[in-house]
Amino acid sequence: VITFHNEARSTLLRTIRSVMNRTPVHLIHEIILVDDFSDDPDDCRLLAKLPKVKCLRNRQREGLIRSRIQGADVAQAGVLTFLDSHCEVNKDWLLPLLQRIKEDPTRVVSPVIDIINLDTFAYVAASSDLRGGFDWSLHFKWEQLSPEQKAKRLDPTKPIKTPIIAGGLFVIDKAWFNHLGKYDNAMDIWGGENFEISFRVWMCGGSLEIIPCSRVGHVFRKKHPYVFPEGNANTYIKNTKRTAEVWMDEFKQYYYAARPAAQGRPYGNIQSRVELRKRLKCHSFKWYLDNELLYQTGMIRQRQSCLESHKSEDQELPILSLNPCITSKGTSAIAQEWTYTYNHQVRQQQLCLSVYTLFPGSPVLLSPCKESDNKQQQWGKVGSHLEHIASRFCLDTETVGDTNESTKELVINPCESTAMSQRWDMVMS
Ligand code: UDP
Ligand code: MN
Repeated sequence: VITFHNEARSTLLRTIRSVMNRTPVHLIHEIILVDDFSDDPDDCRLLAKLPKVKCLRNRQREGLIRSRIQGADVAQAGVLTFLDSHCEVNKDWLLPLLQRIKEDPTRVVSPVIDIINLDTFAYVAASSDLRGGFDWSLHFKWEQLSPEQKAKRLDPTKPIKTPIIAGGLFVIDKAWFNHLGKYDNAMDIWGGENFEISFRVWMCGGSLEIIPCSRVGHVFRKKHPYVFPEGNANTYIKNTKRTAEVWMDEFKQYYYAARPAAQGRPYGNIQSRVELRKRLKCHSFKWYLDNELLYQTGMIRQRQSCLESHKSEDQELPILSLNPCITSKGTSAIAQEWTYTYNHQVRQQQLCLSVYTLFPGSPVLLSPCKESDNKQQQWGKVGSHLEHIASRFCLDTETVGDTNESTKELVINPCESTAMSQRWDMVMS
């Protein structure tokens, strides 16, 4: 399914020809073009002379979301492939995608998206060590896999789980697409729908993957070459606000904080989408964020020693110390396993590394994690330092006790790049 609005004929043709030339013929049931009310109806109509190509034309401008729903609804095949209208699929692009869906139809898969140069139209390989990410304003960005994630990828053909898909190019089982509620058809023109479908897929029982063996080039443009009847910003706000209101639960407050212009804006009726979420018994947004996907778990190491928690007789909460690292089969012992979360907490189950007095040498404690007003529990990774955000001091160790019985206590101190006691390695698994 390829939707387009005023696409150049040459790029549209490049997209379709590449699909025809580089896909085993029996794997294409049909190529459905949805002309989203382009100025020249011939763009689409003439292409329908090509074998397997069908042309649908909207009677008014609908935007890519409703256009894709249109295309999907008429599609007869069991698996849907969505492409933008300015792509070039590469050799053997489709099989690795279909294979993943054949094995498990709840997977929603994307190719690695290569770059078609905007000025020369040359095909340029992109990094395959990327996955989709976003910030609280619901702005999409590519994210490098961490060095730990890369180190673990011994097999470069292995799928990359991604929190979000870029949205233009993906393959999904048709029955699964329908079951999950297609798209939110009250979203207009462009934007935001990739968050909506990504949150929905994960929260309602599916998964999203980027498949490194499949590559498709796409022209990334600097700005939209078409008009937004309601204005670009208004449309983006409407679409992302619908996403936040339906899917983000209490975390929508972060969206509004990051995008104050969205407050009080009309966004239409979301009842049917809220009901869809109920009917599908989807997980909470917190579940999605807490999914290992969005945070890193592993050891926090200083040379051969690791940050550890242990219960103490006379104290209610476990205490912290530095002890020899314990690993078995590549996984760390539970007492040495820490999670670095999306909101900069370093946590172990419900407990977080916290500092309540902001002086040099103040102790670092474990205390119950707080969802908000938690500046005392926020840590930033700055090189090999772990910086306590409220004090701007760094996680440090100090030796206490006599030489026989000495232990290391965890404190914060002014950051010093040369202090070995402030160097931490977060060995995330
Ligand atoms: N599109 C559409 N109707 C619209 C806007 C966009 O059919 O009102 C098509 C567009 O021609 C393209 C796809 O939707 O094939 C995605 O849009 P675009 O490439 O502009 O988005 P980007 O890739 O820049 O995010
Ligand atoms: Mn595009």
